[in-house]
Amino acid sequence: MGLLSLGTPLTWEEAKPYADLVRERGIEQLLNIWKKAKSKERDILLWGDEIEYLVVSYDEDSKDARLSLRQAEILKDLAHDEELRKAGGCVPSLQEISQKPGQRVPTFHAEYGRFMLEATPGAPYGGTLRDLLTVEPDMKKRRVIAKQHMTKNETPITMTSFPRLGVPGAFTQPYYPPHGPIARSIFVPDEIINPHIRFPTLTANIRSRRGSKVCINLPVFYDEKTPNPFKDPTVQYDLSDYPEDGDVRNGAAKDGHVYMDAMGFGMGSCCLQITFQAKNISEARTLYDQLCPLGPIMLALSAASPIFKGYLTDIDCRWNVISGAVDDRTEEERGLKPLNENKYVIPKSRYDSVSTYISQDPGYRPEYNDVDIHQNLPLKQKLLDGGMDEPLAKHFAHLFIRDPLVIFSESIKNYSVDNNDNFENIQSTNWQHMRFKPPPSAEDAIGWRVEFRSMEVQLTDFENAAFSIFIVLLTRTILSYGLNFYIPISKVTENMGTAHRRNAVLSEKFYFRKQVFPPRYANRSGKGSNTSPGGSTSNTPKPVELGPVEDEYCLMTINEIMNGQSGQDGFPGLITLIESYLNSVNVDVETRCELARYLDLIRKRSNGTWETAATWIRNFVQCHPDYEKDSRVNAAVNYDLVKAAETLGNGEGKGTNLWNGLFEKR
Ligand code: ADP
Ligand code: MG
Ligand code: MG
Ligand code: MG
Ligand code: MG
Ligand code: MG
Repeated sequence: MGLLSLGTPLTWEEAKPYADLVRERGIEQLLNIWKKAKSKERDILLWGDEIEYLVVSYDEDSKDARLSLRQAEILKDLAHDEELRKAGGCVPSLQEISQKPGQRVPTFHAEYGRFMLEATPGAPYGGTLRDLLTVEPDMKKRRVIAKQHMTKNETPITMTSFPRLGVPGAFTQPYYPPHGPIARSIFVPDEIINPHIRFPTLTANIRSRRGSKVCINLPVFYDEKTPNPFKDPTVQYDLSDYPEDGDVRNGAAKDGHVYMDAMGFGMGSCCLQITFQAKNISEARTLYDQLCPLGPIMLALSAASPIFKGYLTDIDCRWNVISGAVDDRTEEERGLKPLNENKYVIPKSRYDSVSTYISQDPGYRPEYNDVDIHQNLPLKQKLLDGGMDEPLAKHFAHLFIRDPLVIFSESIKNYSVDNNDNFENIQSTNWQHMRFKPPPSAEDAIGWRVEFRSMEVQLTDFENAAFSIFIVLLTRTILSYGLNFYIPISKVTENMGTAHRRNAVLSEKFYFRKQVFPPRYANRSGKGSNTSPGGSTSNTPKPVELGPVEDEYCLMTINEIMNGQSGQDGFPGLITLIESYLNSVNVDVETRCELARYLDLIRKRSNGTWETAATWIRNFVQCHPDYEKDSRVNAAVNYDLVKAAETLGNGEGKGTNLWNGLFEKR
């Protein structure tokens, strides 16, 4: 969730004059950290997940499931509990944790939605394979602890989007009518926003900077009785509190689409993120690049959000909804008006896929960075003058084309180059599908980290653990064999679009690299990079003749990407590669068997034996007796769906139709 500074926030108009100052200081802070931490070596592998929850409140009399707005009270209660535990001395040190993996005490955080919670393992997991077996129990523990701090009729569920967020009538507990000065939404009240001042300010400033409300249109899923052509009947054209209401009268709501107009529709959805610490900056850069092409693939494979604002839509995942929900670009920046006040036409939202690779590995070819991106050139020059190399300077100079959205007056007054607040201001509001995380400070024990951000949260902890463990094992395999997944970055962006389509996991094809072993580098050991951050290339092996980049990749199904292509020259499949890595290391039988269960989930998701949560949710709705085949997810269907999600999340329902739908059917 990035940084939660306290203080007096500036409105967008007040903040604007300080934008350059914040950026300059941010770059100064970054350079300071980079200079001191760039030669940090031998950090150990640590990693951790973040899981986000919706807090749901049932009304058993009316058979209704709504979003509970008690985040603050629940967190307060949890913190009190944590203090008690700390006073009791049972929060272990990192060292103790590596000896007793079961001992972690989960940490809970606030999130954008006042109906959300985020939980992480209290301390990161270590690097052993055995430690991976503690992941699912840890996740289960978090769910139990969260529930203990809720009321009898509240429950945490791991559903990516709440099906009835923004429907007419009550969808929160307590009820608030829509509208409010912050989001000015015609669908959701401002009361759904975490009241911590950062969040309302972020919401209002995105809207102000953009010059209109945010605008999201998702294609509706046409069922038997869906009116065709579909015109979103929940849109009200005559609300006149704010000039922004002109949006819909000017055509913001597209025919055939479900229309949404507030940040909460995106930032109110839940995801599963994984952060790794690399052994040094160069390994972090390698991992950033190598995992980048996996982002869209894992989005499609984890797809879990087919319903928005009470309608079945024709997309399966949340990503583009959030992208639209925080899109602060002005009309000029979106290319709708000639540039006058603004500097650039920017093709992507602040929340979007990565646009530039950063590694200096020998497997990298300049052709992979095939998208011209805007860069803040004066600030890039400062980074270059400070000694940073071109690809990394370019990455940060690209992030720094954005304005700071929330500035606290205190942070302008109390500036220190040894903090990272100005840097994080820009960094943490660039929500790309990978994040390159520098150490928080030059002196920090925490090293260079990479965050994998595209996955949707899964209904069960078995799945959340499986997706997390898969990514961890993949990083081990990539580093161990020196694998190369590069494709042109424009193809990653294209894949991201493809990943959203209904049932993309089985019906779509994705650009993927054919040959991932590094045969061109004869003496490459595969153990880390052989270029130093300083850029010495003296020991770089001589590459063999390279063919055209277009010959390096092709379209593959996710089944082929995960389970392999047939034929001798076919792509072996990521699971096969991971298994061969596991065969090459010392792992006890029990651990190996347990890990196989998780890999099996990925295998079966990819080949269609098991359903994605998105498909399961669609089927649940479409088979429900109260569903009227008109794409609408009414309160009765929603209640049963949420109950089912709760049952699955609690690990109940094994062997029932519910469980079978997700895991055994076909
Ligand atoms: P953010 O919201 O900024 O992405 P969080 O603090 O919510 O970050 O989550 C970061 C995750 O990274 C947690 O799961 C945590 O366990 C993990 N983590 C913490 N420290 C390290 C570290 N040094 N290396 C790797 N992962 C870490
Ligand atoms: Mg979060
Ligand atoms: Mg977090
Ligand atoms: Mg976060
Ligand atoms: Mg964050
Ligand atoms: Mg995160």
